[in-house]
Amino acid sequence: MLDDMDFIKSCEVPGPTKEAIRAIILYKSNVTSNDYVVDIGCGTGGLTCEFAQRAKQVTSIDTNPEAITITKKNLDKFNLSDNVELINDSGSNALTNINNIDIAMIGGSGRELEEILDIVDSKLNHKGRIIISAILVDTKIEAINKLKELNYNPKIIEVNIAKGRVLDRGVMMMSENPIAIISASKR
Ligand code: SAH
Repeated sequence: MLDDMDFIKSCEVPGPTKEAIRAIILYKSNVTSNDYVVDIGCGTGGLTCEFAQRAKQVTSIDTNPEAITITKKNLDKFNLSDNVELINDSGSNALTNINNIDIAMIGGSGRELEEILDIVDSKLNHKGRIIISAILVDTKIEAINKLKELNYNPKIIEVNIAKGRVLDRGVMMMSENPIAIISASKR
């Protein structure tokens, strides 16, 4: 696992997704060294870097050019650039040229989540996995409903993490934002 503190950050780009959340996402994705991963809405590259360490190939997409720049910097910092392609475009546009997907990570989708899920579903390999991280209540509902419509059996967990700050006179627990992780596999 990479340390949250080691990522290069930008005030214009959200992320990285916190370590405990990354750990759950990696576990749920069941990533192996044979997998082709797309990271839609790669942000700071928190998940891109974790998948790059474990998967065969990662394609990371973000509409924000600054996100692509920061993700590249983090990949270079951790020496993980070799198996990662970066695309500065919307998920719906970029996915039209990608055909081999074992894991689709959707960490940002703006208003095109349903469109992205339609395209991902049409390209996802047998037994492929879809993971969506959601902060907005609306995204959680939209994701669950769309996955049901596409005949998946979606699961959702909401994670509330508190991280300890070890001080001289004791340990102070600091809450992180709750985040939902929605996951589904192609049958
Ligand atoms: N998981 C990331 C953080 C994701 S933040 C990390 O660990 O660093 C969400 C990102 O999704 C933002 O950078 C935003 O620009 C991007 N985004 C939002 N809508 C998008 C879309 N339709 N296509 C591609 N990227 C999108």
